Amino acid sequence: MNPFEHAMLQLNKAADLIKLDYNFIRLLEKPDRTIQLKVPVKMDNGSIKVFDGYRVQYDNTLGPYKGGLRYYQSVDLDEVKALAFWMTIKTAVVDIPMGGGKGGIKVNPKELSFGELERMTRSFARALAPFIGSNVDVPAPDVYTNGEIMAWIVDENTKVKGEEDLGVVTGKPIEKGGSKGRDRATAMGGFYLLQELIEKVFNQDVKTLRVAIQGFGNAGSVMADLLTELGLKIVAVSDSKGGVYSTEGLNLAELKKVKAEKGSVTEMNDVQKISNEELLEVDVDILVPAALENQITEENAANIKARVIVELANGPTNPGADEILNKMGVYVLPDVLANAGGVTVSYFEWQQNQENDYWSEEVVLSRLREKMLAAFEDVWGKSQEYGVSLRTAAFVSALKRITQRIDLSQL
Ligand code: NAD
Repeated sequence: MNPFEHAMLQLNKAADLIKLDYNFIRLLEKPDRTIQLKVPVKMDNGSIKVFDGYRVQYDNTLGPYKGGLRYYQSVDLDEVKALAFWMTIKTAVVDIPMGGGKGGIKVNPKELSFGELERMTRSFARALAPFIGSNVDVPAPDVYTNGEIMAWIVDENTKVKGEEDLGVVTGKPIEKGGSKGRDRATAMGGFYLLQELIEKVFNQDVKTLRVAIQGFGNAGSVMADLLTELGLKIVAVSDSKGGVYSTEGLNLAELKKVKAEKGSVTEMNDVQKISNEELLEVDVDILVPAALENQITEENAANIKARVIVELANGPTNPGADEILNKMGVYVLPDVLANAGGVTVSYFEWQQNQENDYWSEEVVLSRLREKMLAAFEDVWGKSQEYGVSLRTAAFVSALKRITQRIDLSQL
């Protein structure tokens, strides 16, 4: 099943539950616009390479399209469409006035030099410029993109349009109009929710809880820090090269040093090496997928030991696996809620750019916490009311918010 089919199954499940007018489903089954872009780049050896770029503007009922740009070799239209749809649901779940979009380039950025990465980004930004803007569509970082890349996009967008539009992207470096707290926001949002869920699910001291984290990038590594500070034990982590495991708990400072110096957590000494597949099945209380889609499937779901899964990644659990986990009584904090801290602080950044008034990190995090907890309460309440998973409840909440704003009689 491709990721878009996966996303549509989730949509239909929630829509059936609340007997949503079929016309709304028809509307939400297609994106408003899909944009395919040619991204020509002069490589260091003087040759020209042409990459495929995408931007999907899924739905702007609640506000400008909003969602990240990823640089990854598997990027294609179905993946970007699914991610853009999930953004539409996500912004609605956390109740921010933004719609859903996503984009990216099919590329392995690790094969590019720094200069090639910059030229590719600037070429992409020029191609994107007619379609983005702070009141139209606002991209942000995602897998293998970062603040520096966002700053290049602002710069190129300014050159094309002849005026600076700082809010054209979010996730910018702080000195270039970014928000304090944005770099930690995704994990922070998931962390606030997890604290709530721990209270409801585990009747034990948090210091006895063990955690495995798949993906040690922006989202996964910050979550590892936050959970360690709270006293939980991180026993397994992984990155694209594989994973490491220690029943005693991993030394995070050491792990970060090894990752920074040698490029992968698998270079760590005196720990057991495990594969990414094995990481999902280790004996832990909490599992945090923080890498890519489609990691928990019908094949491995029944082997998962964790009682709580926090989906910092987008789409890590496929629908078949979701059913299995639900029957097993596993609590899945779904991606559209668990990782919504990123887009929430992106929205705060956009707001600060619009008002040219910048908030302290304390203010950002306290507003983030407020948003995340309100969304959690709403979703938890709906899951109890309808007797469904947190994922279906989150979709119900989002669909209600979006469809209330659509006037079918005007179509
Ligand atoms: P990142 O590029 O900082 O990190 C990605 C991590 O995943 C890296 O450690 C990488 O080595 C690892 N990885 C790549 N391929 C892998 C594989 N096949 N198996 C295991 N690990 C693999 O990206 P990120 O920003 O941390 O994003 C991670 C996930 O979180 C993505 O699904 C992204 O869409 C989602 N997300 C991120 C944000 C954000 O603000 N950063 C917001 C919402 C959702």
